[in-house]
Amino acid sequence: MMGLEDWTKVIVEVIATATSRLPDDVTAAIRAGRAQEAEGSLAAMALDAVLKNAELACSETAPMCQDTGVPIFWIHHPAGISTGMLNKACAEAIRRATAQKLLRENAVDTLSGRNTGTGYAPSIPSVHCEEWDRPEVKVELLLKGGGCENVSAQYSLPNTSLGADRNLEGARRVVLDAVYQAQGKGCGPGILGVCLGGDRGTGYLEAKYQLMRRLDDRNPVAELDAMEKRLVDESNQLGIGPMGFGGKTTVIGAKIGTLGRLPASYFVSIAYLCWAARRATALVGANGEVTWPS
Ligand code: SF4
Repeated sequence: MMGLEDWTKVIVEVIATATSRLPDDVTAAIRAGRAQEAEGSLAAMALDAVLKNAELACSETAPMCQDTGVPIFWIHHPAGISTGMLNKACAEAIRRATAQKLLRENAVDTLSGRNTGTGYAPSIPSVHCEEWDRPEVKVELLLKGGGCENVSAQYSLPNTSLGADRNLEGARRVVLDAVYQAQGKGCGPGILGVCLGGDRGTGYLEAKYQLMRRLDDRNPVAELDAMEKRLVDESNQLGIGPMGFGGKTTVIGAKIGTLGRLPASYFVSIAYLCWAARRATALVGANGEVTWPS
């Protein structure tokens, strides 16, 4: 049976992987964007710099960006594992990873403005545990940077100024508006995690969870799958480009999920993620063996 120290070590490993290794699907999407930008353009130079950064971070197991973001954990576990212990392990792992320079000292007391110096503060990390029927534990981590969090957006439909009604077409309009408003800020090319429905809190959380999906997966709901592709295509026709430098690579992915909603509300929540899409997933067997599904 794994104890607190065992879990802490596993979670430090998950953090090290997320902070230093750009997932292969993200690298492939950035390379594909680079291939279609004009030689010598600012867009091409920005994407070259991004790819070089990611390569260096991976070879040195070092953070690929100085803002190591808010760590968000989703942990699925079988019955009988203490969620209190998993929460403690995440908190301790953040402190250790910060001391080891895998993460920046990135947590600030909101009222005093003082950096806690440990990487830890209330809600940092953000941990979500859920029991499931399988024997292994799945630990998923997203490191979400501040710049891209600042350009995330939430819309309440209908939105008359955008001509957005309470339907998929309305949702499409507001997501494109969010991309337009961002103008490459938040270190594009971006990835859009979108949630239709939920309330203001659950909507954003589900939008962030969508960012754990591989860029090359398919949405099992046909109409959402089509909308994901359309959002990427239409975002890339806006001409905003990487970092807002102009070009064809504004967005490299869009992932959409849904939650139930009240009759009175229709929220569309958009979690914008920067090119530094630091996500990692580990499966931990009952014997403590760790595997890394792609
Ligand atoms: S938005 Fe992303 S790439 Fe830009 S500074 Fe923040 S973490 Fe780094």
